Amino acid sequence: MSKMFVIDPMRCNGCYNCQIACKDEHCDNDWSPIALPQPDTGHFWIGVDEKVRGSVPKVKVSYIVKLCQHCENAPCMEVCPEAVYRRDDGLVIIDPAKAKGHRELAEACPYGAIFYNEGLDVAQKCTGCAHLLDDGWSVPRCVDACAHDAIRFGDEAEFADELAKAAYLMPDRAEKDKPRVVYLNLPRRFVAGMVRDLEADEVVIGATVTLENLATGEILTKETDDFGDFWFEQVDAASYNLYVEADGYLTRVVEVDEAEADVNVGTLDVFESNE
Ligand code: SF4
Ligand code: SF4
Repeated sequence: MSKMFVIDPMRCNGCYNCQIACKDEHCDNDWSPIALPQPDTGHFWIGVDEKVRGSVPKVKVSYIVKLCQHCENAPCMEVCPEAVYRRDDGLVIIDPAKAKGHRELAEACPYGAIFYNEGLDVAQKCTGCAHLLDDGWSVPRCVDACAHDAIRFGDEAEFADELAKAAYLMPDRAEKDKPRVVYLNLPRRFVAGMVRDLEADEVVIGATVTLENLATGEILTKETDDFGDFWFEQVDAASYNLYVEADGYLTRVVEVDEAEADVNVGTLDVFESNE
């Protein structure tokens, strides 16, 4: 039965336990014929991509765990079929005995998952801790180390629900490569801000904030909270009109461009209507 990983960034708090567990398992340990020792530095067979989003005070940090995607149609295997093989459980392994000197492998992975070990003169990457699975473990060390279930590993049949809503690290490549690592809740964009009555110098609680996607026409609505704040989360990277409406105030319209990054629109001042 083919194994797969399911990674949920919304569950990840950036503790890096998975990365540390990988180091603990592989640095200074020779798991031949699956893997030679990982160097102490420079290799991230599993890594956590940390990204600060938005701007103060509307800031979020997202953490995306990255590792070999154990592709069914693995580009690395195409480049160097003599040194890369797929096990019956679907894990893609670089054979350490056959990968000596194959520097081209480090450039072959579109996901940046292969590293070159200069000391041992060999290409290396995540093995899914195949040596442990063969020894009776049910999951790799990174999965075992994650207290938040942000990384799960198991038979494909266990993950039917997750697969139905899964996304991929590189969506444009997914159909071709068929990765065995799928993602839930990958961060999209957010729009956040605060509504203030400038003259009263007070936040406006309960204002209706509407976000209109100019490409699709989709409308999303929020109410400002007790701090006058609003957050639209997991929205598309697109251009929007944002409308602020509150009883007794003139409606305010702001253009928001989310194409490149998350947007903190800052403080939106509204003014009392004389009607
Ligand atoms: S161990 Fe889990 S929560 Fe911690 S960084 Fe890794 S995936 Fe995220
Ligand atoms: S993610 Fe990279 S190293 Fe892993 S199987 Fe796919 S191409 Fe090979």
